[in-house]
Amino acid sequence: MKPWLLPLLVFFYSHSQAQYAPRALALTDATIIDADHRAPLRHQTILICKGRITEVFPEGTKKLPDTATIINLSGKYVLPGLIDAHVHLATDPSGTDNREHTLNVLKQMLCSGVTAVRDMAGDARVLAGLSRDAQLGEIPAPDICYSALMAGSVFFSDPRTASSTQGGSNGNMPYMQAITGGTDFKLAVAQAKGSGAAGIKLYANLSAGQVNEIMAEARRQHIPVWGHAWLQEAKPSDLVKAGLLSLSHVPLLIREKIPQIPADWKKGTHSPAFWDEATPDLDSLFVLMKAHHTILDATLLTYKDWAGSDSTARWAYETGRRLLARAYRAGVTICAGTDVDQKAFVQAEMEVLVRDAGLSTLDAIIAATRNSACAAGLDSRKGLVKSGMDADLLILSVNPLESIANIKKVFLVIKGGRLYAN
Ligand SMILES: [Zn+2]
Repeated sequence: MKPWLLPLLVFFYSHSQAQYAPRALALTDATIIDADHRAPLRHQTILICKGRITEVFPEGTKKLPDTATIINLSGKYVLPGLIDAHVHLATDPSGTDNREHTLNVLKQMLCSGVTAVRDMAGDARVLAGLSRDAQLGEIPAPDICYSALMAGSVFFSDPRTASSTQGGSNGNMPYMQAITGGTDFKLAVAQAKGSGAAGIKLYANLSAGQVNEIMAEARRQHIPVWGHAWLQEAKPSDLVKAGLLSLSHVPLLIREKIPQIPADWKKGTHSPAFWDEATPDLDSLFVLMKAHHTILDATLLTYKDWAGSDSTARWAYETGRRLLARAYRAGVTICAGTDVDQKAFVQAEMEVLVRDAGLSTLDAIIAATRNSACAAGLDSRKGLVKSGMDADLLILSVNPLESIANIKKVFLVIKGGRLYAN
């Protein structure tokens, strides 16, 4: 057994943003905080072998393997690695999302404690390569799962669909398909799966009938379906009843009751009472979401950012934060996704969940770990500190339950058993 902490730290200080992968690792005297331990579980040993957590047990109750590298974590806090449920890494791989920029962002993201992301539409040819390299540890990056987009054909005038399909046929790529009256759903879903996508994302301009056809085929072919919370022709409740695993963008839920946002609200400034009044009662939708285990991917941060620079976006943010607070109180499962094109990481969404929507600090941590893992379909491998799970851990030097800001006090990040530090 080797007391490794000192040499490890020396290694890190001399190799900025380096990784180190011991064969067997024992984290001793750790305090674990995750969805299974709402009260911190103190004085635990976590054994890691070949990238997986193999055992978790109270300190000193079992002998450690002779070959294990030991890191004493007395006074430190071990969380599951954070998962951003809504990124876009490859919207424009030839431009803003060029490889050098993306690799730099991914490295920073991983070293901040984000060990997995769900990409919610982009060039899957690029994402497949990044995903492979990240999983093998060939690039310092969170693990990446990504989606295959389906939308009505009018959506494909959006320039982002052209930049994500360069060199191919926009609307006819396995990972980005226009759904029309003539779509063969069996083939469309099979093509989506063949692109390596972990899920199908329904984006815009689809009817409830088309959603049901896609869902039925996706069930047969065992691929989850995610979507925007409103698809113009399909209401939020249509999507919940169809069985989508997650709904993105909390302000879109308002379309359940209000087909058209009143245009006159832009006149003048408004009091909190005005926004309370403007936010409809969606309690029955929340009951439906709970019954169907629909996960809400609120992406509140992106609306807050948008409202900060453009007053016409205020409606979405003010009603969105109120709906999210109500959904939380009603017991809807909430995950954490940013959707800000990596200008900020999921820790910023967690802070907004706490400060603007009233989540407890612990529930914001659960949103960005277990719940984001569920949304991405990764919950059998990620999101908890538990035997059998991937060894994806965020180790903090300060108790995050005392303040959500402490989520940034990173001591060490482990992904797939590899150690990373800034
Ligand atoms: Zn998005």
